[in-house]
Amino acid sequence: MTNHSSSASADTLKVVAIDGPAGTGKSTVSNRLADRIGAHMLDTGAMYRAATLAVLRAGVAPESTDVDGIVDAADIRLTVDDGETAVFLNGDDVSREIRTDEVTAAVSAVSAHQHVRTKLVELQRSHARDAFLVVEGRDIGTVVFPNAALKVFLTATPEARAERRHRQNLAAGRESILAEVLESVTRRDHLDSTRAVSPLRPADDAVRIDTSDMTQEQVIDRLAELVAERIGVRP
Ligand code: C5P
Repeated sequence: MTNHSSSASADTLKVVAIDGPAGTGKSTVSNRLADRIGAHMLDTGAMYRAATLAVLRAGVAPESTDVDGIVDAADIRLTVDDGETAVFLNGDDVSREIRTDEVTAAVSAVSAHQHVRTKLVELQRSHARDAFLVVEGRDIGTVVFPNAALKVFLTATPEARAERRHRQNLAAGRESILAEVLESVTRRDHLDSTRAVSPLRPADDAVRIDTSDMTQEQVIDRLAELVAERIGVRP
């Protein structure tokens, strides 16, 4: 990592917003981009997953209005050490547990609650003070940081995304059946993009990148070029 100079104007934030559906490679490329440009990384999906785990632990249905109170009372913290995000729920390290199928199946319903989003968006914004951040999620360019210096929307075909998730699962030692992953990815896309509050969609000024036929290196190179153009930071 190197010299970081900035040409972002005072009314834009030194935030790179990376949105898109599940399995576009968002997390991996966001982490590696942050490392390359000397920025911190914020995984907002991990926060929604921790909130969902709190709901499941309380034995409450993800659609219930009781979700609001449970998430309000939940202490959710993220720490990043050497590019690795650790997630804590009420003091417990839940970094692995938030990736289980049970949490994945319930997270879209929990994240559709307005109250849950208000709490987590506040938490996300509190990370941006004085920082150079790569933030990944679904509504970062549209809702959380509408003044971000660079907004990117990553897409890929459902098949390409399911294939990637499947490979990630196997690499992490999790059981995985490709057809089931495709179904889960498609279901989550539908729920996330049709919900009333902050649906998944590209911001009008987002740069769209279809990663279906790109390697991770190519995506990161393209993002680093955009960061150099828009923010003036060159790795
Ligand atoms: O990115 P990840 O797959 O971990 O996100 C899990 C879920 O969290 C998404 O399917 C979506 O329902 C929710 N989410 C959200 N807004 C964000 C990030 C994630 O609603 N900014």
